[in-house]
Amino acid sequence: MQIPAEFSYERATSIDHALELLKSHGPETLLLAGGHSLLPMMKLRLARPECLIDINDLHELDFISSDGDRLRIGALTRHRALAESEEVARHFPIITDAERVIADPVVRNRGTIGGSLCQADPAEDLSTVCGTLRAEVVIRGPDGERTIPMVELHRGPYETTVAHGEILTEIRLPIRPGAGSAYEKVERRVGDWAIAAAGAAVWLDDGRIADAGVGLTAVGLDRGTATRAEEALRGRAPGDDVFAEAARLAAEDCDPVSDQRGPADYKRHLAGELVTRALRRATARALGQESTT
Ligand SMILES: Cc1cc2nc3c(=O)[nH]c(=O)nc-3n(C[C@H](O)[C@H](O)[C@H](O)COP(=O)(O)OP(=O)(O)OC[C@H]3O[C@@H](n4cnc5c(N)ncnc54)[C@H](O)[C@@H]3O)c2cc1C
Repeated sequence: MQIPAEFSYERATSIDHALELLKSHGPETLLLAGGHSLLPMMKLRLARPECLIDINDLHELDFISSDGDRLRIGALTRHRALAESEEVARHFPIITDAERVIADPVVRNRGTIGGSLCQADPAEDLSTVCGTLRAEVVIRGPDGERTIPMVELHRGPYETTVAHGEILTEIRLPIRPGAGSAYEKVERRVGDWAIAAAGAAVWLDDGRIADAGVGLTAVGLDRGTATRAEEALRGRAPGDDVFAEAARLAAEDCDPVSDQRGPADYKRHLAGELVTRALRRATARALGQESTT
């Protein structure tokens, strides 16, 4: 039986209370959201926090709302709420795609978007999605609030720029005209982590790709974002030749490792194929040719 090392437990009643608790406990203190990543890590003794601050009562962090030109998602929003939100599906079908293939209903009922992004697992799906959509994340600390681009949230695997004493509170997604987005994932079994996955977003203007986001999951791409592929798409008319070029660049730029999920060359091939598929579906959605729900 796997049992975590000893720890103390506090339950925050508000964001300010959570910040006070973080301040009064030492640096080996972690926030507890859904617990679906943290508790397994503690049981395996890969994480040994001295104190857990439970934020599950912070209902002010559990929301999905739009204020015209952006969708705001609270950090404590559960996977299930994201999967079921019509507003999310309408503006960002890539999120709905991803949520349908994250884990199983038990994990989706408790796991949160904030916990997913802060876990910074390279195989985690929502970080790719948020990077592809050019999200910003809001971080609260003792000195107030700061907002950073999603691509600056992760320092590397399992490491973020959220300092001790800070809380990720919100994810902001820009709502822009002419948008379409999609997520494509290949897993060994239903509900498994990705062998490889790709996210794509296109913003069309006058028949051309005014801007594009391309991201990859679980294949060792720096910060998950395929910047050369994105550049290759900008200003071009959408079509299979353009998508193939972007897919080739994304596959070249990733650095997968061989493991129990498959050999590196297979994952690299898969990455390119999934970028092509995601771009096709994102474009079809931008053109109103494919349902977003
Ligand atoms: C069996 C299984 C299968 C899974 N499959 C997938 C999958 O296919 N794809 C996928 O993407 N994920 C998968 N997951 C992970 C799942 O999405 C988790 O819910 C998620 O990674 C973590 O969310 P959480 O709310 O449980 O975070 P927790 O486990 O509570 O926390 C994770 C980390 O984030 C920190 N944290 C949490 N919230 C905040 C905050 N607001 N501010 C600052 N730090 C914070 C915690 O201190 C901890 O370090 C799987 C999990 C399990 C158990």
